[in-house]
Amino acid sequence: MPASKSKQSLPKESDQTDSDSEPVEGGKEPHKVNPGNLFVLTGPSGVGKNTIIDRVLAEAGGIVESVSVTTRKQRESERDGVDYFFTDRESFEKMKKQNHFIEHAEFAGNYYGTPRNWVENRIREGLDVVLVIEVQGAKQVKKQFPSSILIFLAPPCMDELEKRLRSRATEPEDVIAMRLDKAGQEMKERDVFHYEVVNEDVDQAVNNVLSIVYAERCRIRP
Ligand code: 5GP
Repeated sequence: MPASKSKQSLPKESDQTDSDSEPVEGGKEPHKVNPGNLFVLTGPSGVGKNTIIDRVLAEAGGIVESVSVTTRKQRESERDGVDYFFTDRESFEKMKKQNHFIEHAEFAGNYYGTPRNWVENRIREGLDVVLVIEVQGAKQVKKQFPSSILIFLAPPCMDELEKRLRSRATEPEDVIAMRLDKAGQEMKERDVFHYEVVNEDVDQAVNNVLSIVYAERCRIRP
């Protein structure tokens, strides 16, 4: 991910929401903000989710990406609080028990979870939020937030996905094999999603995701 992303701090469960703490001036009703949309971008490891979403965020405005908590080892290019909040399994389990996550999943031997307070606060403020997560997590989000919008980013074919995973060279062979196996399973779950975007040409895929974001902003909701 590019270094232009700003560092977030991990919200505590005890953090108050902005509206909780603000007094209402002169007894007037506070200005009502329409809540933002919750987007979920899912797709097999190596399909290019981060490349696409970085460009979508830079282009669209008014949409922010949640930083997940993970027990995976930090890669050299990654920054704590920007790409992930890196933690150990014990702390992760504790956060899970404290209902710290909207969703969580185990993926290729590591835990991943989406911080609840940060996401809910941004949506309440009227910002759109995007979660870049795997399919088990996407299903949990869909259940909890029925109006969330789920996008599946697919590779043009499995051979191409394997090529991309290997050329990334961030994982050893056994992990690549595990991720490819998982990719095969994820490809069978496309029915869970509202939209599918094939990442054959990056510009086209970015445009398609942007079109979905803009269209959903115009949707009439009850
Ligand atoms: P990676 O280790 O390559 O960064 O991520 C592995 C997979 O976990 C990717 O598909 C990524 O999108 C997904 N992932 C990242 N954060 C989360 C999260 O908070 N929850 C879930 N369920 N999956 C996540």
